[in-house]
Amino acid sequence: MKKVIAFLASLTMVICLFTACGQTKKQEGQKTDNGKTYVIYSDNSFAPFEYYDEGQKKYVGVDMDILAAIAEDQGFKYEVKNEGFDAAMGAVQSGQADGMIAGMTIKPERKETFDFSEGYFEDGQIMVVKADSKYASPADLKGLTVAAKTSTMGAEIADKYAKQYGFEVVYYEDSPTMYTAVSNGTNAACFEDRSVVGWAIVKEKLGLKTVGEVIEPGLYGFAVKKGQNADLIKMFNTGLASIKANGKYDEILAKYGY
Ligand code: GLN
Repeated sequence: MKKVIAFLASLTMVICLFTACGQTKKQEGQKTDNGKTYVIYSDNSFAPFEYYDEGQKKYVGVDMDILAAIAEDQGFKYEVKNEGFDAAMGAVQSGQADGMIAGMTIKPERKETFDFSEGYFEDGQIMVVKADSKYASPADLKGLTVAAKTSTMGAEIADKYAKQYGFEVVYYEDSPTMYTAVSNGTNAACFEDRSVVGWAIVKEKLGLKTVGEVIEPGLYGFAVKKGQNADLIKMFNTGLASIKANGKYDEILAKYGY
């Protein structure tokens, strides 16, 4: 009888041990799921990073897929609002959004109001003109009007050259409207992220071409309001490292032709 009791006691101990282990594991696995659904803003038409796919009836693209893969890896919930680039910046600053992923270039001035993740893609700006245009550099734009997308690096570059070479800048809210202004001759040129306008030229046959070299190359980053949502940046960075290590990141880029 004593033996039986001793056996049962040790069995209970072993079971307890396993159960305790199980619980610890579960807690570790759940450490990032705090029950919160993060609100992430993005651009509305910035292919191949985010764009509405008529066939799938949803927003797709490199940014959308990277965010989904990282959220899955890190176990957090989120919803995306594709409202446009300037709107996304405003939503993050006002606290309406927890973060944004929108082909957003990491740069020192933005670090005054945003905290960025590690960079996940490299790109730079390029001058864009009509396919049959003779304008080959910003100096050729003297006295003309140039299109730019509000709050972007392209707009910043257009503003800088406008002062230097003497032309006027007209602002648009999204990339397609800006491209149209150039392709229909309303404005002489625009400045845009090379890979994005490159995609549009090929896929949408816009009658545009890029001229000159890439200006100010930089890295795209996920962003939150400065000093806020540090947990989200941490999860993004850890998840990014993880999807780079397991091949998912390369798989996503390859899907969009990189
Ligand atoms: N990469 C550019 C920027 O950060 C453009 C981003 C965008 O238009 N979505 O300003």
